[in-house]
Amino acid sequence: MSDKTAGSTRHRVVVIGSGFGGLFSTQRLRKADVDVTLIARTTHHLFQPMLYQVATGIISEGEIAPATRVILRKQANAQVLMGNVESIDLEKKVVTSRLLERITETPFDSLIIAAGADQSYFGNDHFAQFAPGMKTIDDALELRGRILGAFEQAELSDDPEERARLLTFVVVGAGPTGVELAGQIAEMSDKTLKGTFRNIDSTEAKVILLDAAPAVLPPMGPNLGGKAAKRLESMGVEIQLNAMVVDLDYDGLLVKEKDGSTRRIESQCKVWSAGVAASPLGKQLAEQSGVELDRAGRVKVLPDLSIPGNPNVFVVGDMMSVEDVPGMAQGAIQGGRYAADAIKAELKGARPEDREPFKYWDKGSMATISKFSAVMSVPVPGFKKNLETEGFFAWLGWLLLHLVYIVGFRSRLNTIVDWSFAFLTKGRSQLTITEQQVLARNALDHLAQIDLDRRKEAGELLPDDVAETPSGKPVLSDPTPKVRKAEAEDSDAEAKSKPAAS
Ligand SMILES: Cc1cc2nc3c(=O)[nH]c(=O)nc-3n(C[C@H](O)[C@H](O)[C@H](O)COP(=O)(O)OP(=O)(O)OC[C@H]3O[C@@H](n4cnc5c(N)ncnc54)[C@H](O)[C@@H]3O)c2cc1C
Repeated sequence: MSDKTAGSTRHRVVVIGSGFGGLFSTQRLRKADVDVTLIARTTHHLFQPMLYQVATGIISEGEIAPATRVILRKQANAQVLMGNVESIDLEKKVVTSRLLERITETPFDSLIIAAGADQSYFGNDHFAQFAPGMKTIDDALELRGRILGAFEQAELSDDPEERARLLTFVVVGAGPTGVELAGQIAEMSDKTLKGTFRNIDSTEAKVILLDAAPAVLPPMGPNLGGKAAKRLESMGVEIQLNAMVVDLDYDGLLVKEKDGSTRRIESQCKVWSAGVAASPLGKQLAEQSGVELDRAGRVKVLPDLSIPGNPNVFVVGDMMSVEDVPGMAQGAIQGGRYAADAIKAELKGARPEDREPFKYWDKGSMATISKFSAVMSVPVPGFKKNLETEGFFAWLGWLLLHLVYIVGFRSRLNTIVDWSFAFLTKGRSQLTITEQQVLARNALDHLAQIDLDRRKEAGELLPDDVAETPSGKPVLSDPTPKVRKAEAEDSDAEAKSKPAAS
């Protein structure tokens, strides 16, 4: 076990996560007299809003996932550690992370937790293997493999029923991600792949967007939601609302209608974008501090984004539950910066009890539907209602805004080149798929299971220490299982060092 900040005399800030909340809070501390340790389980900062473009071959993964340590190279007070944070000890003020066999303990004076959210299958975790979500680069590449792989299999099939199943794509969840994906799959089959197969006609592919709710894009309101639905339908996307998925398997899904009746859709390629569950680290905080969690496992933070009894432990981004703050990039960026500012203020003598509450600045929301088409809702100062627009100008606004937030000049340049190619022609430059992309999920889950079994055998874990994430991955359920072994070793050593009773 190692402590990577041993010897530090400055105020130690530990940041968990390299997403929007984690990266922007770290950068905000650039000039502060602190040592920042950012711990994340991936080596990159992921720009999730453009994951769907990776999944559908418009851009490459590198363009939206630059290496965190390269971004922070010039920030001398920041250190980046790769590791999965397994436990947070609020009393000892230590974060414990693991990278393979290596366990690292990182002490903190202040802690910013920005570990985001995972996909939620609403208790049906086994759905994950048949309908992956879209939260990570792995997810996006797997989806690309599944989408293009389905066309490849259809080309080889002589059975009309099987072909129909292979050419039916179902996107579950009609929020922004579902809308963007459904639009892109339709555009890819109608334009990019048109004329590239000899036995099938890719334009005959059927794309279904379904949701248990009665509307498309509910957070954007009925006007923009209705416009998005119309545009999708004009592209051939079939929208099925009030339709709840009650079962899923390799070849299709079972849908329950509003009247209680059920029907089956035959489809090999399914995508899940229907719900989120906050990082399980929230549960550890709840157990130790008494802070409440909402239904999605988000932490109901205090007005200054800290948790009760721990004024220097902040929870930001998708993990926090704050009224009127949506689970969007801006919520995480603003929350991360607020927490960093609170830490800086305290170093200058400010008292936590005097902090101004966190205020969210709503900058609006948008979603793309297809090439040259998007919907956008932006607040206008002095007006109660948001300005709502759709079509080409909304799409242009989306493009420019996302370009601004992509980190790094080179990533921006590459994105512009790929976008130009995709938008000015029917082409997409990232249509490579590999077997590994499609099959690795199961192999990785299998390896994780082997590792946990090994740790159980070694006495590090008890059976109850292992639970499953919302997407079905085995994880630790006990915040401090490793302590068990350490305690056992300590008492062993103690027993050995005690003189024999006379
Ligand atoms: C497909 C998709 C499209 C989206 N589109 C938009 C959009 O158009 N506009 C918009 O505003 N928002 C959009 N969002 C939402 C936005 O991306 C999130 O709100 C934002 O990323 C939240 O930031 P965060 O820092 O809280 O979490 P994240 O960005 O998810 O970062 C979490 C970080 O924590 C790390 N982590 C998690 N658990 C651990 C652990 N135990 N140990 C160590 N590290 C850990 C992860 O590796 C990651 O680095 C989209 C999200 C998705 C998934």
